[in-house]
Amino acid sequence: MIVVGAGSAGFNAAISAKMAGAKVVLFEKAAYTGGNSMLAAGGINAVGTPQQKKKGIEDKVEWYYEDAMKGGRYQNDPKLVQILAEESADAVKWLESLGANLDDLKRSGGARVERTHRPSGGASVGPHIVDTLRKAAKERDVDVRLNSRIEKIVLNDDKSVAGVVVHGRHSGYNMVAADSVVLATGGYGMNKEMIAYYRPTMKDMTSSNNVTATGDGVLLAKEIGASMTDIDWVQAHPTIGKDSRILISETVRGVGAIMVNTDGERFIDELTTRDRASDAILKQKDQYAWLVFDEQLVAKKKMVRGYDHLGMLSKGNTIEELAKITGMSKLPKTAGDYNKYQAAGKDDAFGRDDMPLNLTKPPFYAVKVAPGIHHTMGGVAVDTDANVLNLQSWKMSGLFAAGEVTGGLHGFNRLGGNAIADTVVFGRIAGENAAKHALEKK
Ligand SMILES: Cc1cc2nc3c(=O)[nH]c(=O)nc-3n(C[C@H](O)[C@H](O)[C@H](O)COP(=O)(O)OP(=O)(O)OC[C@H]3O[C@@H](n4cnc5c(N)ncnc54)[C@H](O)[C@@H]3O)c2cc1C
Repeated sequence: MIVVGAGSAGFNAAISAKMAGAKVVLFEKAAYTGGNSMLAAGGINAVGTPQQKKKGIEDKVEWYYEDAMKGGRYQNDPKLVQILAEESADAVKWLESLGANLDDLKRSGGARVERTHRPSGGASVGPHIVDTLRKAAKERDVDVRLNSRIEKIVLNDDKSVAGVVVHGRHSGYNMVAADSVVLATGGYGMNKEMIAYYRPTMKDMTSSNNVTATGDGVLLAKEIGASMTDIDWVQAHPTIGKDSRILISETVRGVGAIMVNTDGERFIDELTTRDRASDAILKQKDQYAWLVFDEQLVAKKKMVRGYDHLGMLSKGNTIEELAKITGMSKLPKTAGDYNKYQAAGKDDAFGRDDMPLNLTKPPFYAVKVAPGIHHTMGGVAVDTDANVLNLQSWKMSGLFAAGEVTGGLHGFNRLGGNAIADTVVFGRIAGENAAKHALEKK
């Protein structure tokens, strides 16, 4: 069997398939593995883990389900969401069994409790998971071929999968036969043409995505008659460094930053979902905002130092100095008010219900942010076994898909931490079912 794309979904599929006894080749078009997965900063969502138990966090599969559905404005495929919620703890356990450390917990936008898992010390989750998966694949002798772009899926006369056409950068075109193919090619956040076609209002936005996210899987599947779900639903992340492609992680708001407009006034509950936060920023003057925080947050979250090294942070020894440097005249009053809400545990202005830090410890920092393309929720239509569906909603024999290339799971808006969970849960399902299909054909 063949897996197309070596991000988290592809690696999870290939490793699971190999463990199920299939002969697997994992093709990756880039000269490196990791795709968007290796950029993931925040974490992976899971409910009912030992990590939550240790911290005394009460959580339920029903709550995870409800949060994901609410975040997706109830446009999600409920059956896929149910599986994601039920299998999420096992996904974390599986990654740990492969060598990952996911001991740290935080709360992401749209989640009612802390269920976003990441490495101890709050390090970025993506590079860690991708490293773990690369190593696990190597240890299990998964055949990974880099510089190998799949350009066509070939079908038999009965429409079952016959194999793929691969364009090797150094080896030219070859047809490779396979009984099952798993599409794990990621989203289309870096394909300007597809964005302009499916979501014209976003065509001039920056993108946080890796250059690899060009929607190949959607095009490959469409060409052979696959159905698409929610294909025009694209998520703008509210906090991409203005005029850059650098994502300022949701964690920064999650652990305590406030978000203000160019005058220094708050305008929304910072922990709201990404779509609502993005819409709110676009309604502000000049369509950008600032995240403001202090030294307490920097000490708590190592990743923020990276933004400093990149020269993205404005810094002041007092909040008044920061206000002067950035031109946010109302910032001192906003900070004073926020500190009062934080001390009282009640945000009278916007109802933010988690305010872990106040703004009192110098130096004070601000980073300019604006919405940018972050996730393509829509994609190839799949059923709960990761079978790709055709236009009649029938399974396409031998064709499976997982991860950001698929549509349906996240509905209108994906919650932070649910994409990596998706790649692990459905990557494994796709790998196991593709292996089963291939082995049954023998
Ligand atoms: C900056 C950033 C931060 C994020 N942070 C988080 C987070 O903290 N938590 C979370 O849950 N989600 C996060 N996400 C979203 C998440 O990372 C992605 O949705 C997820 O990793 C997608 O995984 P994937 O395996 O489906 O695709 P990818 O990881 O994108 O992998 C797809 C792979 O397929 C390859 N490929 C594509 N076409 C072909 C072809 N024709 N032939 C061969 N190979 C091909 C690509 O080169 C790529 O390597 C973040 C995304 C970004 C961009």
